[in-house]
Amino acid sequence: MKTSIQIGKIMGIPIKLHITFLLILPVFALVFASSPAPYGFVEVESTIVRYAFGTLAAVALFACVLLHELGHSYVAMKYGTKIRSITLLLFGGVASMEEVPRDPKIELKMAMSGPGVSFALGVAFLLIYLLLKPIWAESPVTQLVFVLGLLNVILCGFNLIPAFPMDGGRILRAYLARQMPYMEATRKAVYIGKTFAFAMGVFGFLILSPILILIAFFVYIGASEEEKTTEITVTLEGVKVRDIMTKNVISVPPTMTVSELAELMFMEKHMGYPVVDGRLRGVVTFSDVRQVPIEQRGKTLVGDVMTKKIISVAPDDDAINALKMMSQRNIGRVLVMEDGAMVGIVSRTDLIRSIQLLRE
Ligand SMILES: [Zn+2]
Repeated sequence: MKTSIQIGKIMGIPIKLHITFLLILPVFALVFASSPAPYGFVEVESTIVRYAFGTLAAVALFACVLLHELGHSYVAMKYGTKIRSITLLLFGGVASMEEVPRDPKIELKMAMSGPGVSFALGVAFLLIYLLLKPIWAESPVTQLVFVLGLLNVILCGFNLIPAFPMDGGRILRAYLARQMPYMEATRKAVYIGKTFAFAMGVFGFLILSPILILIAFFVYIGASEEEKTTEITVTLEGVKVRDIMTKNVISVPPTMTVSELAELMFMEKHMGYPVVDGRLRGVVTFSDVRQVPIEQRGKTLVGDVMTKKIISVAPDDDAINALKMMSQRNIGRVLVMEDGAMVGIVSRTDLIRSIQLLRE
Protein backbone atom coordinates (compact mmCIF):
# COMPACT_ATOMS: atom_id res chain seq x y z
CA MET A 1 0.00 0.00 0.00
CA LYS A 2 1.22 3.48 -0.78
CA THR A 3 1.31 5.39 2.48
CA SER A 4 2.60 8.76 1.33
CA ILE A 5 2.18 11.21 -1.53
CA GLN A 6 4.75 13.54 -3.00
CA ILE A 7 3.72 17.19 -3.10
CA GLY A 8 6.79 18.74 -4.64
CA LYS A 9 10.51 19.32 -4.43
CA ILE A 10 12.59 21.77 -2.43
CA MET A 11 16.38 22.03 -2.97
CA GLY A 12 15.94 18.98 -5.19
CA ILE A 13 14.53 16.91 -2.30
CA PRO A 14 11.13 15.23 -2.83
CA ILE A 15 8.70 16.36 -0.11
CA LYS A 16 6.13 13.75 0.88
CA LEU A 17 3.05 13.73 3.06
CA HIS A 18 2.41 10.56 5.03
CA ILE A 19 -1.15 9.32 5.46
CA THR A 20 -0.95 9.92 9.24
CA PHE A 21 -0.09 13.55 8.51
CA LEU A 22 -3.20 13.98 6.37
CA LEU A 23 -5.27 12.53 9.23
CA ILE A 24 -3.72 14.67 11.95
CA LEU A 25 -3.83 17.99 10.07
CA PRO A 26 -7.62 18.57 10.52
CA VAL A 27 -7.27 17.55 14.19
CA PHE A 28 -4.62 20.24 14.69
CA ALA A 29 -6.79 22.77 12.84
CA LEU A 30 -9.70 21.92 15.13
CA VAL A 31 -7.59 22.16 18.29
CA PHE A 32 -6.27 25.57 17.23
CA ALA A 33 -9.75 26.79 16.31
CA SER A 34 -11.23 25.75 19.66
CA SER A 35 -8.41 26.65 22.09
CA PRO A 36 -8.51 29.90 24.08
CA ALA A 37 -6.06 32.74 23.41
CA PRO A 38 -3.09 32.90 23.26
CA TYR A 39 -2.97 29.27 22.02
CA GLY A 40 -5.97 29.33 19.75
CA PHE A 41 -8.80 31.29 18.24
CA VAL A 42 -11.93 30.28 20.16
CA GLU A 43 -12.69 33.93 21.05
CA VAL A 44 -12.85 34.95 17.38
CA GLU A 45 -16.51 35.65 16.69
CA SER A 46 -16.86 34.59 13.07
CA THR A 47 -16.88 30.81 12.71
CA ILE A 48 -15.32 30.99 9.25
CA VAL A 49 -12.46 33.21 10.44
CA ARG A 50 -11.92 30.96 13.47
CA TYR A 51 -11.54 27.81 11.38
CA ALA A 52 -9.58 29.60 8.67
CA PHE A 53 -7.02 30.67 11.27
CA GLY A 54 -7.07 27.23 12.89
CA THR A 55 -6.23 25.67 9.55
CA LEU A 56 -3.65 28.33 8.77
CA ALA A 57 -1.93 27.71 12.12
CA ALA A 58 -1.86 23.93 11.52
CA VAL A 59 -0.45 24.28 8.00
CA ALA A 60 2.09 26.89 9.11
CA LEU A 61 3.20 24.66 12.00
CA PHE A 62 3.94 21.80 9.64
CA ALA A 63 5.69 24.19 7.26
CA CYS A 64 7.94 25.06 10.21
CA VAL A 65 8.55 21.35 10.85
CA LEU A 66 9.48 21.03 7.19
CA LEU A 67 11.92 23.94 7.52
CA HIS A 68 13.46 22.18 10.54
CA GLU A 69 14.07 19.06 8.42
CA LEU A 70 15.37 21.18 5.55
CA GLY A 71 17.84 22.66 8.03
CA HIS A 72 19.25 19.18 8.73
CA SER A 73 19.20 18.33 5.04
CA TYR A 74 21.00 21.50 3.99
CA VAL A 75 23.97 20.77 6.25
CA ALA A 76 23.95 17.08 5.29
CA MET A 77 24.03 17.97 1.59
CA LYS A 78 26.86 20.39 2.17
CA TYR A 79 28.92 17.43 3.40
CA GLY A 80 27.98 15.27 0.44
CA THR A 81 25.15 13.20 1.93
CA LYS A 82 22.33 12.50 -0.48
CA ILE A 83 18.81 13.17 0.84
CA ARG A 84 16.28 10.73 -0.57
CA SER A 85 13.16 12.49 0.70
CA ILE A 86 11.53 14.38 3.54
CA THR A 87 8.26 12.95 4.83
CA LEU A 88 5.85 14.76 7.09
CA LEU A 89 4.03 12.40 9.40
CA LEU A 90 1.91 12.27 12.56
CA PHE A 91 4.27 14.07 14.91
CA GLY A 92 6.83 15.90 12.85
CA GLY A 93 9.01 15.09 9.91
CA VAL A 94 11.67 12.62 8.86
CA ALA A 95 14.48 13.22 6.40
CA SER A 96 15.58 9.98 4.83
CA MET A 97 19.25 10.17 3.90
CA GLU A 98 22.02 7.99 2.61
CA GLU A 99 25.18 7.32 4.60
CA VAL A 100 25.14 9.72 7.49
CA PRO A 101 28.79 10.73 7.98
CA ARG A 102 30.34 9.27 11.10
CA ASP A 103 32.47 12.28 11.83
CA PRO A 104 31.43 13.76 15.21
CA LYS A 105 32.09 17.32 14.00
CA ILE A 106 29.79 16.93 10.97
CA GLU A 107 27.21 15.00 12.98
CA LEU A 108 27.14 17.75 15.57
CA LYS A 109 26.52 20.43 12.95
CA MET A 110 23.86 18.30 11.27
CA ALA A 111 22.02 17.57 14.51
CA MET A 112 22.15 21.20 15.65
CA SER A 113 20.90 22.67 12.38
CA GLY A 114 17.26 21.50 12.80
CA PRO A 115 16.73 22.87 16.32
CA GLY A 116 18.70 25.93 15.18
CA VAL A 117 16.16 26.63 12.43
CA SER A 118 13.26 26.12 14.87
CA PHE A 119 14.87 28.45 17.40
CA ALA A 120 15.47 31.15 14.78
CA LEU A 121 11.86 30.84 13.56
CA GLY A 122 10.55 30.98 17.13
CA VAL A 123 12.54 34.13 17.95
CA ALA A 124 11.56 35.77 14.65
CA PHE A 125 7.83 35.12 15.20
CA LEU A 126 7.97 36.30 18.80
CA LEU A 127 9.73 39.51 17.75
CA ILE A 128 7.07 40.16 15.11
CA TYR A 129 4.47 39.48 17.79
CA LEU A 130 6.02 42.12 20.06
CA LEU A 131 5.88 44.61 17.20
CA LEU A 132 2.27 43.80 16.32
CA LYS A 133 0.88 43.62 19.86
CA PRO A 134 0.67 47.38 20.63
CA ILE A 135 -1.13 48.21 17.39
CA TRP A 136 -3.13 45.07 16.63
CA ALA A 137 -3.64 43.29 19.94
CA GLU A 138 -7.09 41.87 19.21
CA SER A 139 -6.36 40.59 15.73
CA PRO A 140 -6.15 36.83 15.07
CA VAL A 141 -3.10 37.58 12.92
CA THR A 142 -1.21 38.73 16.02
CA GLN A 143 -2.33 35.58 17.82
CA LEU A 144 -1.26 33.38 14.93
CA VAL A 145 2.20 34.92 15.03
CA PHE A 146 2.39 34.32 18.79
CA VAL A 147 1.29 30.67 18.51
CA LEU A 148 3.88 29.99 15.80
CA GLY A 149 6.61 31.67 17.86
CA LEU A 150 5.73 29.62 20.92
CA LEU A 151 5.44 26.32 19.04
CA ASN A 152 8.79 26.76 17.30
CA VAL A 153 10.50 27.36 20.62
CA ILE A 154 8.81 24.20 22.00
CA LEU A 155 9.83 22.29 18.86
CA CYS A 156 13.41 23.36 19.40
CA GLY A 157 13.33 22.39 23.09
CA PHE A 158 11.61 19.06 22.48
CA ASN A 159 14.18 18.08 19.84
CA LEU A 160 17.01 18.88 22.22
CA ILE A 161 15.91 16.12 24.64
CA PRO A 162 19.19 14.18 25.01
CA ALA A 163 17.84 10.86 23.68
CA PHE A 164 17.67 9.10 20.33
CA PRO A 165 15.84 9.53 18.01
CA MET A 166 15.71 13.20 18.99
CA ASP A 167 18.38 15.57 17.71
CA GLY A 168 19.58 15.94 21.30
CA GLY A 169 20.60 12.26 21.30
CA ARG A 170 22.76 12.82 18.23
CA ILE A 171 24.28 15.96 19.73
CA LEU A 172 25.09 14.00 22.88
CA ARG A 173 26.73 11.17 20.91
CA ALA A 174 28.73 13.58 18.76
CA TYR A 175 29.96 15.22 21.95
CA LEU A 176 30.88 11.88 23.54
CA ALA A 177 32.47 10.56 20.33
CA ARG A 178 35.17 13.19 20.57
CA GLN A 179 36.49 11.46 23.68
CA MET A 180 35.83 7.75 22.97
CA PRO A 181 35.25 5.30 20.11
CA TYR A 182 32.04 5.82 18.15
CA MET A 183 30.36 2.60 19.31
CA GLU A 184 31.08 3.32 22.94
CA ALA A 185 29.75 6.86 22.54
CA THR A 186 26.58 5.44 20.97
CA ARG A 187 26.10 2.97 23.84
CA LYS A 188 26.58 5.70 26.40
CA ALA A 189 24.21 8.07 24.59
CA VAL A 190 21.64 5.26 24.27
CA TYR A 191 21.94 4.50 27.98
CA ILE A 192 21.42 8.15 28.90
CA GLY A 193 18.48 8.36 26.48
CA LYS A 194 16.83 5.23 27.91
CA THR A 195 17.26 6.49 31.47
CA PHE A 196 15.76 9.79 30.41
CA ALA A 197 12.84 8.04 28.69
CA PHE A 198 12.25 5.88 31.76
CA ALA A 199 12.20 8.90 34.06
CA MET A 200 9.85 10.67 31.66
CA GLY A 201 7.54 7.62 31.64
CA VAL A 202 7.44 7.45 35.44
CA PHE A 203 6.74 11.16 35.60
CA GLY A 204 3.99 10.68 33.01
CA PHE A 205 2.37 8.04 35.24
CA LEU A 206 2.60 10.28 38.30
CA ILE A 207 0.89 13.21 36.64
CA LEU A 208 -1.37 10.86 34.62
CA SER A 209 -0.31 12.22 31.25
CA PRO A 210 -0.88 9.68 28.46
CA ILE A 211 0.96 11.91 25.96
CA LEU A 212 4.10 11.97 28.10
CA ILE A 213 3.97 8.18 28.56
CA LEU A 214 3.58 7.75 24.82
CA ILE A 215 6.55 10.03 24.08
CA ALA A 216 8.65 8.21 26.70
CA PHE A 217 7.83 4.89 25.05
CA PHE A 218 8.65 6.26 21.60
CA VAL A 219 12.00 7.64 22.83
CA TYR A 220 12.88 4.33 24.54
CA ILE A 221 12.23 2.32 21.35
CA GLY A 222 14.13 4.88 19.25
CA ALA A 223 17.17 4.62 21.51
CA SER A 224 17.28 0.82 21.26
CA GLU A 225 16.94 0.98 17.46
CA GLU A 226 19.83 3.40 17.17
CA GLU A 227 22.10 1.11 19.17
CA LYS A 228 21.29 -1.84 16.91
CA THR A 229 21.79 -0.01 13.61
CA THR A 230 25.01 1.63 14.76
CA GLU A 231 26.36 -1.71 15.91
CA ILE A 232 25.69 -3.21 12.48
CA THR A 233 27.19 -0.24 10.62
CA VAL A 234 30.31 -0.22 12.77
CA THR A 235 30.76 -3.99 12.50
CA LEU A 236 30.41 -3.97 8.72
CA GLU A 237 32.80 -1.07 8.29
CA GLY A 238 35.21 -1.79 5.42
CA VAL A 239 33.49 -5.09 4.56
CA LYS A 240 32.76 -5.39 0.84
CA VAL A 241 30.06 -7.41 -0.86
CA ARG A 242 32.84 -9.57 -2.37
CA ASP A 243 33.93 -10.68 1.11
CA ILE A 244 30.61 -12.13 2.16
CA MET A 245 28.82 -13.16 -1.04
CA THR A 246 28.09 -16.76 -1.94
CA LYS A 247 30.11 -17.44 -5.09
CA ASN A 248 28.89 -20.81 -6.32
CA VAL A 249 25.37 -19.76 -7.07
CA ILE A 250 22.91 -22.46 -8.03
CA SER A 251 20.69 -21.14 -10.78
CA VAL A 252 17.53 -22.62 -12.26
CA PRO A 253 16.18 -22.59 -15.84
CA PRO A 254 12.88 -20.78 -16.57
CA THR A 255 11.50 -24.05 -17.90
CA MET A 256 11.72 -25.80 -14.53
CA THR A 257 8.34 -26.45 -12.90
CA VAL A 258 7.46 -24.82 -9.61
CA SER A 259 7.13 -28.21 -7.89
CA GLU A 260 10.68 -29.14 -8.98
CA LEU A 261 11.86 -25.79 -7.65
CA ALA A 262 10.10 -26.38 -4.31
CA GLU A 263 11.92 -29.71 -4.05
CA LEU A 264 15.26 -28.04 -4.83
CA MET A 265 14.62 -25.41 -2.15
CA PHE A 266 13.90 -28.14 0.36
CA MET A 267 17.13 -29.99 -0.51
CA GLU A 268 19.47 -27.00 -0.81
CA LYS A 269 17.94 -24.90 2.00
CA HIS A 270 18.27 -21.76 -0.15
CA MET A 271 15.13 -19.71 -0.48
CA GLY A 272 15.94 -17.78 -3.65
CA TYR A 273 17.57 -18.55 -7.01
CA PRO A 274 18.58 -16.62 -10.11
CA VAL A 275 16.78 -17.80 -13.22
CA VAL A 276 19.19 -18.32 -16.11
CA ASP A 277 18.93 -19.58 -19.68
CA GLY A 278 22.07 -18.38 -21.42
CA ARG A 279 21.65 -15.09 -19.65
CA LEU A 280 20.07 -13.88 -16.45
CA ARG A 281 16.27 -13.67 -16.76
CA GLY A 282 15.09 -12.97 -13.22
CA VAL A 283 14.96 -14.17 -9.64
CA VAL A 284 12.61 -16.70 -8.11
CA THR A 285 12.03 -16.97 -4.36
CA PHE A 286 10.03 -18.99 -1.87
CA SER A 287 7.31 -16.35 -1.76
CA ASP A 288 6.84 -16.76 -5.55
CA VAL A 289 6.42 -20.52 -4.99
CA ARG A 290 3.96 -19.98 -2.18
CA GLN A 291 1.68 -17.95 -4.43
CA VAL A 292 1.06 -20.96 -6.67
CA PRO A 293 -1.57 -23.38 -5.27
CA ILE A 294 -0.05 -26.83 -4.62
CA GLU A 295 -2.16 -28.59 -7.29
CA GLN A 296 -0.94 -26.06 -9.91
CA ARG A 297 2.77 -26.35 -9.12
CA GLY A 298 3.37 -29.34 -11.41
CA LYS A 299 2.30 -27.42 -14.52
CA THR A 300 3.43 -23.89 -13.64
CA LEU A 301 6.86 -22.86 -14.88
CA VAL A 302 9.47 -20.86 -12.98
CA GLY A 303 9.59 -18.41 -15.91
CA ASP A 304 5.96 -17.46 -15.27
CA VAL A 305 6.26 -16.72 -11.56
CA MET A 306 9.77 -15.25 -11.28
CA THR A 307 10.47 -11.59 -10.59
CA LYS A 308 11.92 -10.07 -13.76
CA LYS A 309 13.20 -6.91 -12.13
CA ILE A 310 16.75 -7.65 -11.04
CA ILE A 311 18.12 -5.84 -8.04
CA SER A 312 21.88 -6.09 -7.88
CA VAL A 313 25.01 -4.74 -6.26
CA ALA A 314 28.63 -4.71 -7.41
CA PRO A 315 31.26 -6.87 -5.67
CA ASP A 316 33.13 -3.74 -4.59
CA ASP A 317 30.07 -2.13 -3.00
CA ASP A 318 30.01 -1.82 0.78
CA ALA A 319 28.23 -4.71 2.46
CA ILE A 320 26.21 -2.25 4.52
CA ASN A 321 24.69 -0.87 1.31
CA ALA A 322 23.51 -4.33 0.30
CA LEU A 323 21.86 -4.67 3.71
CA LYS A 324 20.21 -1.26 3.43
CA MET A 325 18.96 -2.08 -0.05
CA MET A 326 17.40 -5.30 1.20
CA SER A 327 15.66 -3.72 4.15
CA GLN A 328 14.39 -0.77 2.10
CA ARG A 329 12.88 -3.02 -0.53
CA ASN A 330 11.99 -5.72 1.96
CA ILE A 331 13.75 -8.47 0.00
CA GLY A 332 15.84 -11.35 1.25
CA ARG A 333 18.69 -11.32 -1.28
CA VAL A 334 20.41 -9.31 -3.99
CA LEU A 335 22.45 -10.55 -6.91
CA VAL A 336 26.06 -9.50 -7.32
CA MET A 337 26.81 -8.40 -10.89
CA GLU A 338 30.12 -7.47 -12.44
CA ASP A 339 30.42 -6.31 -16.07
CA GLY A 340 26.94 -7.61 -16.83
CA ALA A 341 27.64 -11.10 -15.48
CA MET A 342 26.38 -12.62 -12.27
CA VAL A 343 29.27 -13.40 -9.94
CA GLY A 344 27.45 -14.16 -6.70
CA ILE A 345 24.50 -13.64 -4.43
CA VAL A 346 24.19 -11.98 -1.02
CA SER A 347 21.35 -12.87 1.30
CA ARG A 348 20.24 -11.38 4.56
CA THR A 349 21.29 -14.63 6.23
CA ASP A 350 24.83 -14.24 4.80
CA LEU A 351 24.99 -10.75 6.21
CA ILE A 352 23.68 -11.64 9.64
CA ARG A 353 26.14 -14.54 9.84
CA SER A 354 29.05 -12.24 8.92
CA ILE A 355 27.96 -9.69 11.50
CA GLN A 356 27.93 -12.40 14.17
CA LEU A 357 31.36 -13.70 13.10
CA LEU A 358 32.92 -10.24 12.90
CA ARG A 359 31.68 -9.36 16.36
CA GLU A 360 33.56 -12.30 17.90
ZN1 LIG B 1 15.54 17.53 13.99
